[in-house]
Amino acid sequence: MKKTEILIIGGGVIGASVAYHLTRRGAKDVLILERENRQGLGSTGKATGGVRAQFETDINIKMSLYSLDFFQNWDFDCGYEPRGYLFFATDENQFDYLRRNVKKQKSLGVKAVEIVDTQTISEIVEGLNCEDIVGGSFGGGGDGFINPLAVMRGFTTRAIAKGAKIKTETLVLSIETRGGKVIGVETNTGRIEAEKVVLCSGAWAKNLAITAGIDLPVEPQKRQIVWAKSETALQENMPMVIDLGSGFHFRPAKDFVNPRADTDGTNVLFAYPDANGQTSFDTNFDESFIPKVYERAKHRAPFLADTTVVREKCRAGLYENTPDHHAIIGGCEIENLYFCSGFSGHGVMHSPASGRAMAEIILDGKANFLDVSCLSLERFTTGELLHETAFI
Ligand SMILES: Cc1cc2nc3c(=O)[nH]c(=O)nc-3n(C[C@H](O)[C@H](O)[C@H](O)COP(=O)(O)OP(=O)(O)OC[C@H]3O[C@@H](n4cnc5c(N)ncnc54)[C@H](O)[C@@H]3O)c2cc1C
Repeated sequence: MKKTEILIIGGGVIGASVAYHLTRRGAKDVLILERENRQGLGSTGKATGGVRAQFETDINIKMSLYSLDFFQNWDFDCGYEPRGYLFFATDENQFDYLRRNVKKQKSLGVKAVEIVDTQTISEIVEGLNCEDIVGGSFGGGGDGFINPLAVMRGFTTRAIAKGAKIKTETLVLSIETRGGKVIGVETNTGRIEAEKVVLCSGAWAKNLAITAGIDLPVEPQKRQIVWAKSETALQENMPMVIDLGSGFHFRPAKDFVNPRADTDGTNVLFAYPDANGQTSFDTNFDESFIPKVYERAKHRAPFLADTTVVREKCRAGLYENTPDHHAIIGGCEIENLYFCSGFSGHGVMHSPASGRAMAEIILDGKANFLDVSCLSLERFTTGELLHETAFI
């Protein structure tokens, strides 16, 4: 059987970005294996589509800066809309946290981010209940929205144009190694030999890594989103709005499969993290989530309380969490086995930086455009974990 040079497991936004960046660098023999009959059925197709540079750690901020610039300048229409992200605090500790973050974000080059007072918040989001809000931060000129499926499609079509291949309906069963080196994979349609294997299978990465003897700390966590429709149009240019304390958030809704649908400004998405940290591969939308999220909406944004749920557009997907809520990008003790997984809910927005970093690690031994060594798998054994509280 023909030996593939670089085999990517998983055809979501991350696998597609890795293929795009590899082929741009001249790699020709790149093959993506995807178990479903089409791309986008994993977490990528479930994402909210938020992009932001408002993070706590240097690495997340730098990955965002790189990626936002990429989205802005890409000649592929990926639906980038820099409408802003508003984080608000309901106590002084949270507000101090936002102040520290904004200082750091500015020091690293984030331009359009500001601390905002309650009055300004009430002007940014008309009708928000600001009674218990003490202040917030607003990323206005870069943070915003993206179409996750368009980003994935852009990476894929460009990679294929440069010689990459994608094989759907191919479930990888195990990663094969010999003498401490990767030699290929076993799939439901037979063996494929490979020089190098990159694991981009999102929330499902851990169980495959284990077949190569590697303990990859990526756990699936169910996250749900309610889609609702209001009788009248919502505020024009509404940003993403996030309660830092509870994680309750909302944004104007966008149909990523058919971006021309539902464009009358009456559709909205809202959610909060309801999983209590539990590990689960369940992606069925749970009806009992609806009254819980409405309870929060009623308090925070009464105009949301009167909306009608569009049941068929509500969804549940999986975050792919690591213990420190940062991605794992790099190799491991098995030669030529690489990981690009564990994005902990930020994989779409960080896909440009992550794909480039992974491609440079594979081709050059390290990422030169950005030092991503703090994201290595090794950190979980050396104890050099990162700390990010703003994971929503
Ligand atoms: C509700 C929700 C909201 C989110 N909101 C945002 C957001 O606003 N912004 C943001 O940046 N991120 C967001 N995310 C996170 C984002 O969706 C993920 O980080 C990102 O999609 C990860 O991409 P991926 O390619 O690694 O994973 P996936 O898109 O899950 O792709 C992995 C692929 O691997 C395939 N696969 C798995 N196992 C195998 C196997 N054994 N063999 C072959 N193929 C296999 C799967 O079928 C899948 O297609 C959100 C996630 C959820 C669930």
